[in-house]
Amino acid sequence: MKNEYLLLTPGPLSTSETVRQAMLKDWCTWDDDYNKDVVEVIRSSLTQLATRHPGYTSVLMQGSGTASVEATIGSALGKNDKLLVIDNGAYGARIAQIADYLSIPTCVISLGETQQPNLEAIKNALKSDADITHIAIVHCETTTGMLNPIEPVIKLAKQHGKAVILDAMSSFGGIPMDIGELDIDFMISSANKCIQGVPGFGFVIAKQTSLEKCQGQARSLTLDLYDQWQCMEHNHGKWRFTSPTHTVRAFYQALQELQDEGGIAARHQRYQTNQKTLVEGMRSLGFAPLLHDDLHSPIITSFYSPKHSDYQFKEFYNRLKAQGFVIYPGKVSNADCFRIGNIGDVHPADISRLITAVKSSMYWEIK
Ligand SMILES: *Cc1c(COP(=O)(O)O)cnc(C)c1O
Repeated sequence: MKNEYLLLTPGPLSTSETVRQAMLKDWCTWDDDYNKDVVEVIRSSLTQLATRHPGYTSVLMQGSGTASVEATIGSALGKNDKLLVIDNGAYGARIAQIADYLSIPTCVISLGETQQPNLEAIKNALKSDADITHIAIVHCETTTGMLNPIEPVIKLAKQHGKAVILDAMSSFGGIPMDIGELDIDFMISSANKCIQGVPGFGFVIAKQTSLEKCQGQARSLTLDLYDQWQCMEHNHGKWRFTSPTHTVRAFYQALQELQDEGGIAARHQRYQTNQKTLVEGMRSLGFAPLLHDDLHSPIITSFYSPKHSDYQFKEFYNRLKAQGFVIYPGKVSNADCFRIGNIGDVHPADISRLITAVKSSMYWEIK
């Protein structure tokens, strides 16, 4: 089954035919055909992709990526802990919202969606509020496509002895990093982003000593990160409750394909070429990216909507879809934008075809 159109979205995204084929069978959760080693291989592969340092482990959690963020926030912070959230987009704001739902004391540094984290402000917050125990930051803010420079922020947090929670949902697998080198405590991502699987679960790669401290702290049964980890550790990859079997098999295949491509470095290279081809092509047609080139991730790009009074996103979208490309609405609150993703089973030749399709879809200019 071929797809009718390519998803140029931040996820769910276009997957390979072979990843989709892995789902064409029903699996029994406790049968060896499903369970033998699949989950354990996934867990150790994820840990190895994240770091070469020892002392890290991974936990898979049912739900969309946000469920894994909520599981981490709700399990990592104890009764007397306080969270500092660096917010420069919808996903940073969502972390603060989760903490609010869970009644976790939180301090938020809100920067606006086109600003990078301000080290001075973070330093001041850490100095002036000794109650802060954890700091949460988003790696690639999918709202805009901004790649946050996490190293100096994490270094600062560590100098002050804080635990670090990184939402690397849209970057893990597509941008090289070593979370052990950075001394990150919890890193969160999900199946349907740069690993190029399908939606259904998220995962947390954590420092074992930090995960151990989560025992008995969770504010939710289903989102108890520690219990899920213990169940997987002691029962050879068993999930506490029904596991998303098809998604897991598809993910297993997707991990194999990541390796076949040449690993994260090779995938990063492809995404970068996609993004560069996209921005050059769009610029040649008169579109301007929201962010300065230096702030950009290779994951997704926001473009200003055309100023022309005849322009409507939906019409533009439909014309592109008819030519085989699905783009994404904007999410920035103070600028009219649309977004185009570069991740998934998407290649530079696809982006070149997209540029041709965009050119022929600029109905507001062809009058
Ligand atoms: C996709 C994404 C999430 C999770 O979104 P879900 O819709 O719950 O899967 C969280 N943070 C970032 C940065 C994301 O890109």
